[in-house]
Amino acid sequence: MENWGLAQATPAVLPAPHSASLCMGMWRNWIFFCGISGFALSGGWAEEEKAFLYSPLAEAPEWRLLDSYQGMIQREDFFARCRSVFDPSGALAKYLSVDDEGVRVFRDIAKTELLYFLRWAGSKGQEGSRTVSFCLPDPEKPLRGQVICLDPGHIGGDWADIEERTFRIGRDRPVVEGELNLKTCKLLEKRFRDAGAKVVWTHDGFSPTTGLRPNDLYPEAIQYLLQDFGSRRLPRYSMNGLIRWNAELLFYRSAEIQARARRVNEELRPDFTICLHYNAAPWGRPGRPSLTSVSRLVVFSHGAYTSSELVYDDQKFHLLRKLLENSTPEELDLGAAIGEQFQKKWGFPPENYGGSGYASPSGMSPYVWHRNLIANRLFRGPVIFVEGPYMNDRTTYAWIQAGEYEGTRNIGGRERQNIFREYADRVADGVLERFRTLSSRSTAFTNYSP
Ligand SMILES: [Zn+2]
Repeated sequence: MENWGLAQATPAVLPAPHSASLCMGMWRNWIFFCGISGFALSGGWAEEEKAFLYSPLAEAPEWRLLDSYQGMIQREDFFARCRSVFDPSGALAKYLSVDDEGVRVFRDIAKTELLYFLRWAGSKGQEGSRTVSFCLPDPEKPLRGQVICLDPGHIGGDWADIEERTFRIGRDRPVVEGELNLKTCKLLEKRFRDAGAKVVWTHDGFSPTTGLRPNDLYPEAIQYLLQDFGSRRLPRYSMNGLIRWNAELLFYRSAEIQARARRVNEELRPDFTICLHYNAAPWGRPGRPSLTSVSRLVVFSHGAYTSSELVYDDQKFHLLRKLLENSTPEELDLGAAIGEQFQKKWGFPPENYGGSGYASPSGMSPYVWHRNLIANRLFRGPVIFVEGPYMNDRTTYAWIQAGEYEGTRNIGGRERQNIFREYADRVADGVLERFRTLSSRSTAFTNYSP
């Protein structure tokens, strides 16, 4: 499911696994289809090709937004964060020129087009003087003063089919991931509010946040398709079908997440964001989905940019901005605390992305991996991206079909509360535990740029 080789890269044969995995898989295919001439087919990298320097629909980076970080980080810290979090494969180094004064980031690996120069902090780096608050948390209201943003994954509703986030078996109730995510987040909201937090939402219904619709994005879909029409392996879709599929992907992936990011970054400005999803194993043909007997859990913290992503200017920009923002410690604390709840209360094993090339272990918890997803790249501040149980695991499927019942029922041989309640409680208990046991951080990400 995770390893999306190019040979699989046709929309007509897309299986329908889980969101983040699928999303990233499709995204990679998309970049392959539409982006970079000669990429992979020639067996070489495309860093030198300059026709297409931004991810689809991405805004051109405003490098001046990094100016507030000038002189704030020491050279050793910068490279420590690269190695452990953002650039474990070492791909970024090809674009950097480093000396005692600072680091220059180039567009190309020949290092002819300078994108940005970042000056190192002196030996007494200002960042080291960041204060940590030692206020003892209120045991009754451990989240008092926190603004938490909830981002239920996907749109759902009328859009679930084109998002490929729904399946149905026989006459059973259709499983629509967007609806499961929203139901769970509503319960999570109550837990957070009861603990003193203010809760804000990227969206709390089944309507898109973006004003764009797939029909608006045909020109962009065609433009990307035409980039290198001749050298591409042709997919099995008709050309019209391929354009439509690409326009839909641009809509629910790029445009929708970008609109949510604008809301988070410009209006909501939370202390941290929780992106909540349910996962799935590949479920075969959409018309004949099949169940499995496995469920794994994972929490993503931002990082692990790949070589093919770093071809793009906007990806280099976001890597730098996230690295300097330094949300990683908070993401890891929260992610590990949620992972511990998963392990203690549910016992589902963690995902293992070892060798995948697109995710790297956090070292903090087997449940927490670094991964570069659109939401955790574009949302400012810490983003905890939680993937719940597999919707097409037999036990989980029965649990979802049982709906939002009161009390407990025997599901898969265990007395369980309804799945939305339990998932919300796992996440809420992890977050509360982190705030009860650790002092709050004075993080650098509060430095929002206009
Ligand atoms: Zn999802």
